[in-house]
Amino acid sequence: MNAPKSVEQIVSEASNFDHAANIPLNMALRTAQNMISQAANYERDGNLQDAYLFLYRHADFFFTHISKHPDAKKQEYKPQMARARDDVKADLSRMEALKPDITTRWNKYQDAVKRRDAIRTQQPAGSTKSGTPPPPQESLVLSAGEHKDIALQLANRELRRRRKDPRDDNAVMDDLSRGIQDLGRRIDAPRQSSHSRSTSQVSAAYHYPAVPSGHGSVQSPSAPFAPSRPPKSDLPTYGVPPPLPSKPDHSFTSPPPLPSKSSGPAPPPKQDLSSTQNYQFQPAAYTENGTPLRTLFLPTALRTSFTTLAQSNTTANLETCGILCGTLISSALFISHLVIPDQTSTSDTCETTELGETELFDYVDNEGLMVCGWIHTHPSQTCFLSSRDLHTSVGYQVMLPESVAIVCAPSKSPDHGIFRLTDPPGKEAILNCHKTGLFHPHDEGNLYTDALRPGHVSELAGLQFQVVDLRRDKK
Ligand SMILES: [Zn+2]
Ligand SMILES: [Zn+2]
Repeated sequence: MNAPKSVEQIVSEASNFDHAANIPLNMALRTAQNMISQAANYERDGNLQDAYLFLYRHADFFFTHISKHPDAKKQEYKPQMARARDDVKADLSRMEALKPDITTRWNKYQDAVKRRDAIRTQQPAGSTKSGTPPPPQESLVLSAGEHKDIALQLANRELRRRRKDPRDDNAVMDDLSRGIQDLGRRIDAPRQSSHSRSTSQVSAAYHYPAVPSGHGSVQSPSAPFAPSRPPKSDLPTYGVPPPLPSKPDHSFTSPPPLPSKSSGPAPPPKQDLSSTQNYQFQPAAYTENGTPLRTLFLPTALRTSFTTLAQSNTTANLETCGILCGTLISSALFISHLVIPDQTSTSDTCETTELGETELFDYVDNEGLMVCGWIHTHPSQTCFLSSRDLHTSVGYQVMLPESVAIVCAPSKSPDHGIFRLTDPPGKEAILNCHKTGLFHPHDEGNLYTDALRPGHVSELAGLQFQVVDLRRDKK
């Protein structure tokens, strides 16, 4: 169970975080943006203490890493720096607003603990008399491995809610929460028109504003949501068709596969989601330096969907890459979007173009998502992370420690791997490496590791996701 914490404990926990040093200012600004998104997601879930933690960590990161960054005074960063400063001011007032609730919960918890201890001392030793009041609990803590059914229900409930017009849903999304989410999007606001901002929650997935008409296409292989989906004739019809799942259990709407009755202990009975209970997934794994990693839920069907989309490139011996985007629900990350950015590729490389990067982050900010890593194909190579891949991955992992790199090597065995850089030594070694060659050597070994369970990644059958293809030149 997750116990309430005092503001002092939260601040101490927030400060105890090893931020990567010497990263490019752009990466630092994106990292800061992710912290604001996480705070907003925690607040939406009613988890005020983790919301406070990320607001504090964001402010702390700004003062220690952004305002003192060697490039912070450069003219080209002036607008972004001004917005970052505004974000920190907003943090401080938001933290003041959250403080009374956090303190009240903490005080109630302390009182309950004292009452319980007083009753215990009155009882004879060894007494197991029932009726001892337990301290109040904040949330039901779940394990990613045992509670996949709840994970699926939580994700689908939240993703469904986001597709609804927020004007009809004031009970769920109160003004304060909206305010902080707007704050999270503000860093890139000048790139969006006021029209696109006001309608982004309703229709941005289908009418992406930053992509000139005739280029972007969105497929939604997930379960249809009739109320918010525009008529089919409004959807762009070019681009690759939604890929067909190759196996019955990869179906986008199928329930999670039933566990085999003959293997292992009986699974816990399926639980239904309570509308009043708060849920929290416990950390799924730890980095090599002991930092907890939250669970990253990955739709089981995503890989098949991606390799199908990449098939024509793969046949032509060209790599394809996609960006894994997701959201934080109940202290776990759920991949909800696979974005295929504009890119250039060879048989051994695949890189997002500068335009592709701008569009990607516009899309991510518009949709209130976070980048949680990337996926790419190795058309002829085996399944591993090349030196260049490690450098790409480290950027995502700085922005979000749970970010992963998925490699699909369709012609090899194993045909896929889900990796993260070790920390230490991988993350720091790559951040400190300034070589650029495709397969340049690194002195250290053990630079990356498997991330799939028992790592922090859990595949989740039936988890809805959208494929958003922003490539100019679709093969
Ligand atoms: Zn690669
Ligand atoms: Zn290197």
